[in-house]
Amino acid sequence: MTYYIFVTGGVLSSLGKGVASASIASLLEEQGLKVNIQKLDPYLNVDPGTMSPYQHGEVYVTEDGAETDLDLGHYERFINRHMTKKNNVTAGRVYYNVIRREREGGYLGATVQVIPHIIDEIKRLIKEAEEDSDVLIVEIGGTVGDIEGLPFLEAARQLSVELGKDRVLFVHITYVPFVKTAGELKTKPTQHSVKELRAIGIQPDIILCRSEVEIPESIKEKIALFTSVKKDAVISAPDLECIYEVPLHFKEQGIDRLISKVFGFDYKNVKSKWEGIVHIFKSVQKEVRIALVGKYVSLKDSYKSISEALTHGGIANGVRVKIEWVNSEDYHQEVLEQVHGILVPGGFGERGIEGKLKALSYGRQSKKPTFGICLGMQLMCVEFARNVMGLEGANSTEFDPLTPHPVIDIMEEQKHVRELGGTMRLGSYPCKLMEGTKAREIYGKEIVYERHRHRYEFNNRYRESFERFGMVFSGLSPDGKLVELIELKDHPWYIGCQFHPEFKSKPFQPHPLFVSFISACLQAL
Ligand code: GLN
Repeated sequence: MTYYIFVTGGVLSSLGKGVASASIASLLEEQGLKVNIQKLDPYLNVDPGTMSPYQHGEVYVTEDGAETDLDLGHYERFINRHMTKKNNVTAGRVYYNVIRREREGGYLGATVQVIPHIIDEIKRLIKEAEEDSDVLIVEIGGTVGDIEGLPFLEAARQLSVELGKDRVLFVHITYVPFVKTAGELKTKPTQHSVKELRAIGIQPDIILCRSEVEIPESIKEKIALFTSVKKDAVISAPDLECIYEVPLHFKEQGIDRLISKVFGFDYKNVKSKWEGIVHIFKSVQKEVRIALVGKYVSLKDSYKSISEALTHGGIANGVRVKIEWVNSEDYHQEVLEQVHGILVPGGFGERGIEGKLKALSYGRQSKKPTFGICLGMQLMCVEFARNVMGLEGANSTEFDPLTPHPVIDIMEEQKHVRELGGTMRLGSYPCKLMEGTKAREIYGKEIVYERHRHRYEFNNRYRESFERFGMVFSGLSPDGKLVELIELKDHPWYIGCQFHPEFKSKPFQPHPLFVSFISACLQAL
C-alpha cells in the first residue's frame, strides 16, 4: 500500500520545493521505506525538452531518455532510485493524452471536460508513479493561486478523499519574508496562501517556512495558530550554505518522526547519512576555481547538474569548488588565467560558439585541465581540426551546414526527423573504454553507461587523421561506430565526452570524470 505526500508551494516560486521534497524523501528512505518522487508541472509543453534553459533551467535527462524538469536531478541525487518518464508529468502531457484518446473514440458519447476527464487522467498518472513504493511524494509545480495549477490541486484533493486522510499528507512550502526596516519576520503571506489552499479544499498538515533566517518558536506558534497546523508541524527552512544540509535541518525538527507517526510507521532513531557529507563540505579549506564557459550563465539553474557534480568531485577530493561563470558571448582570456580548470558544457545553437572555441584553445595550449561535455566535446574536435590539423573552416554542420570540413555532423537517423520534441539521441547508452587510455583508468572498467541528449556526432571520416595528430578516441559505442570520449595524448587532462556525466553524479557516488577532473585541477593549486 502506498502513502502519499503532496507538496505545494505558496507566495512565490523558486523556494526550493524540489530540494525540500527530495530531502523529505531521503529522510523517509533512511527509515527503511521505499520512496518515489513525482513532479507535476502546470505548463502546456508536453515535456521541457524544447524549452530554453533561460526559461526553465536545465533539462534533466533520465536513464530511459525522458527530458524532464531539473527537480528530478535533485530527486536522483538525494534518493537511491532512478527517475523515469513517469516521474515528471506536465499539464501538456495530460491534455495530450486526453485529446488523443478523444480522437481515438475513447470517450464516445461524452463531452470531454476538465472535470472529470483531465482530473482523472492526472490521478491515473499519479497512480502510475506509485509502483513499488511505500511513499510517493508528489511535488506540484507553480504556486497555489495560479490558474494553471488548479487541476493538479483538485486531483490531489480528490485522491485524499478517495484514499482516506490517514494515507495522504499535505506539505505546504511557503515564504516568510524578513523585513529589514521593521527587523521582523512576516507571516501574513503564509496566512494568505494557506487560505487560498483551504479555498480549494486542502488543509495543509505540515508547513515548511522558507526564509533568509531561522524561524523562531514565537513565529512558529503564530503560523500554527492562524493555519490550524500543529506547532511541531511548522518547520523552519532557512537559507543554508549547502543543499545537503537541508535533510539534517528538517530531521532536527522531527519531520521524519512526524510523518512516520501520521502514517503509522515505526520510527527508527537512525543517524543520517548526510552528516558525513555536510561535515566534509564544511571543514574543507582549500578551494579550486573552475571556469564554466557557457552561454546560459545568467541563469545558474541552466547548469544545475554540472555545478552539483563539480561539488561532488570537490567533496571526493576534500576541496571546495568555486565556479567562475564565464559568458561565452563575452569571452576574455584573463578570467581563464586565474582558474585551475576549464569546463565547456553542452548547448545548442550558434551563439557563443567562438568564445567556447577560444576557451578550449587556451585550455589545450596552457595545459590546464579542460573538460568538454557534449557540445563542449564537439567543439574540442572543431578547435583541434582548425588549429592543430590546419583544417580551415572546420565546423559542426549544426553551425555551418556548408563547412568544407564537417568534423561534427548530424546522425543519419536524425536527418529525417521533423518533430523536435523528444527526438534527439536520448537516455542511457553503453560506451566501451579503450585500454591504455586516461578514460579507462579513470572509470576502472571497460563498459560504462552514460546519458545522452544530442543530434550531432563525431564524423568518422576524420577519425584516422585526428588520431595521427594525437587525438585519442578513448570511448566508443560497443559497435565502434560512435565516438563517446576523446582525450589528448600530450595534455595532462583534456577530456571530452559526447554524453552528460553530470546527470549520474551523486554526493555519495561522485562521477569518476568529475572526481578526476577536480583532482587534476588540484595539482595546479
Ligand atoms: N547541439 C549539439 C547536438 O545536438 C550538442 C547538444 C548538447 O550539448 N546537449 O548534438
